[in-house]
Amino acid sequence: MYALVYTGTQELVYREEKNPKIINGESIVKVSASGICGSDMHAYHGNDNRRIPPLILGHEISGTIDKGKFSGKKVILNPLITCGKCDYCMNDREHLCNKRIILGMNKPIERQGGFAEYVSIPDQNIYELPNTLEMKEAPIAEPTAVALHAVELGEKELSKPLKKSKALVIGCGAIGLLSGLILSKVKNCKEIVIVDLNKKRLGVCSKYLDANTVQPDSKFIVSDNFDIVFDTVGMEATRQQAIKAIKPGGVIIHVGLTQPSGQFDFRKATLQEITFIGTYCYTNKDFEKTLNILANKKIGSLDWIEYRKLQDGASAFQQIHNNTCSAPKIILLI
Ligand SMILES: [Zn+2]
Ligand SMILES: [Zn+2]
Repeated sequence: MYALVYTGTQELVYREEKNPKIINGESIVKVSASGICGSDMHAYHGNDNRRIPPLILGHEISGTIDKGKFSGKKVILNPLITCGKCDYCMNDREHLCNKRIILGMNKPIERQGGFAEYVSIPDQNIYELPNTLEMKEAPIAEPTAVALHAVELGEKELSKPLKKSKALVIGCGAIGLLSGLILSKVKNCKEIVIVDLNKKRLGVCSKYLDANTVQPDSKFIVSDNFDIVFDTVGMEATRQQAIKAIKPGGVIIHVGLTQPSGQFDFRKATLQEITFIGTYCYTNKDFEKTLNILANKKIGSLDWIEYRKLQDGASAFQQIHNNTCSAPKIILLI
């Protein structure tokens, strides 16, 4: 089969690779579409010790079952593979399983990803493609599940409903835009400010999201003003913006993984009882709920997604790297 292989820092090669072998309890999927995620970008930059080259990246995947139990079915994959037996797995928090692994990672266990013609996946990670969702759009389910999980973690901690809360979303990438869309269209949040440095990307977001789209120095980012702040970037500067903008008693949801450490105003966090929540992936229930949201078109048009061919994947990565890409999400078609 052909695959886009991550061969070294900022290096991807489209080349022939061995087909995955069928394993008991798993299926082989003929991949149709595979999204480029922020975490694939971390690997591309050589910043991910769970993704070591050579490796086929990609975990946002739709396709058709080629070999296995559901042969011929059109499917979406939940790429988060867990043990199914531990305390977390038995209590609807599979994403915290200490044996968790995501497709397109090779440490501690190798799992080749979806930037390829074929990929192997355990049967319990396979979901039928809703017939109202296009195959090429379907990989958006994975980041949408991340956003839904993040929004609902925050919702649980807030002292008032989201529809009466002021929200600040930092970052206009897929997770930022999707968090905004869920806040606005699913949770009826009326006051949303979304901030990014990239003006082109802000322009795209403003077309699809009912929010105030601004740059970081905007007068709309008032201190002590927001009930909930989503940091979908995760840099020292964005965390500082989050703690500055949050209201006393407010909730900060930290989704981004860009910079692991740095200065933070712990004094304000303490004196003003700020709740700080780290969030990662989604539970199986979140994934199912997300498919329902997408099948019912609850977050509106997905025309903000851009599509490229798998063989042109290397240039797509480069454009995201150079910040010359305005689309919050690029999906590669195989
Ligand atoms: Zn992803
Ligand atoms: Zn487990």
